[in-house]
Amino acid sequence: MSPARYLDRHQPDLVAFLQKLIRLRTVNPPGENYGAITALLARTLRGLGLTVRRRPVPRALQKKTQPDLLAFPRYNIIGFWDAGAKKTLHFNAHYDVVPVSGVWRQGSAFHPVVENGWIYGRGAADMKGAIASIVFALRALRATGTRPNFNVEVSFVADEETDSTLGTGWVTAHGKLRADYAVVGEGGEGDAVCCGHNGVVWLNVRVHGRAAHGSTPGAGINALEKMSALVLALDGYKRRLARRAFRAPDGSRLRPTLNLGGVFSAGEGGKVNTVPAAASFTIDRRVLPVESVAEAERELRAFLRAAARKIPQCRITVGKISDNRSCYRPPSHPLFAAMRSSVARIRRRPARFTVSTGFNDMHYFAQVLKIPTVGHGPGGPDYHAVDERARLRDLTDSAKIYADLLTTFKG
Ligand SMILES: [Zn+2]
Repeated sequence: MSPARYLDRHQPDLVAFLQKLIRLRTVNPPGENYGAITALLARTLRGLGLTVRRRPVPRALQKKTQPDLLAFPRYNIIGFWDAGAKKTLHFNAHYDVVPVSGVWRQGSAFHPVVENGWIYGRGAADMKGAIASIVFALRALRATGTRPNFNVEVSFVADEETDSTLGTGWVTAHGKLRADYAVVGEGGEGDAVCCGHNGVVWLNVRVHGRAAHGSTPGAGINALEKMSALVLALDGYKRRLARRAFRAPDGSRLRPTLNLGGVFSAGEGGKVNTVPAAASFTIDRRVLPVESVAEAERELRAFLRAAARKIPQCRITVGKISDNRSCYRPPSHPLFAAMRSSVARIRRRPARFTVSTGFNDMHYFAQVLKIPTVGHGPGGPDYHAVDERARLRDLTDSAKIYADLLTTFKG
């Protein structure tokens, strides 16, 4: 029997396994049930004959980066199937999910319901579905005695939904990976094969004024008015960004963006009859796949400094909230062509190379390990929202695609 045939026959098992994963509420933040899900995943991979390392993130390290989350230990697992090949193909997926709100049409977010070819539940699309597809691709190869062209390495990781430092960040830094190529199970779905993604810089801008009585505004420095002038000045920066563009391999065009937000208030002591002494806002700068995040941050900070200097008595402090690397590699490496062929073969229609406007964990493999990395997985609509779901056929197709890639890509 072929792996594809096996997967068609065993779709109900794949779905039952995914339901089991969804029932484990791995909500992040704060990062619940990580121990339970990694124990289950480790058992599953061992059952398929992989050597598995289930690694808690050292407490001292968590204390440094997440001091208030020590009651929720972080775990990552790394599995290895030694197929006696020279090279190793790595599959990565995160098991954490975003919190749930709203009323779900289909039961509850953690009691997954299957209806009309769809499975509903938190994580069905992002991205426990991909975990199920990876596991069943390996199961199909094992069950049919099909030998992959590569050793297979798998990482199932924590924390992608907050800050991947202790998830894929930890695995790529301390996991002693043997990967020569990587597939991240998200970023591209359907006919899309993802070659890179945007990055992001998040800053907080605090404007310092001087309080005075509301009846004598001239005696103070109004931080709200200074902030408003600064916000208007940022239009110049937006125009500068609008002139930049990146053309993705499929012809679509991406532009860097700037979004201003945050919680606006005068801080403590803010009253209608007081000149506000402080004001703040946030900046979400989306960085093109080919831009450097560090360079984007330098440029933005320089613009803010210069703009503030032009506004009389405008004193600011700029702080970093966080950032995330971008990544891009032109799809000239054979891995990309092989993935595109596998997607086209299984889905029976042409596939295309894209980049993702959101970010995922691809950049750790592409930029830190510097290995060819593609993103593709089952995905699904309404992820991070109510009625998140995945199509059963896409789950099976992704498993077939992974199995196909392992047996057709030559490396
Ligand atoms: Zn995700």
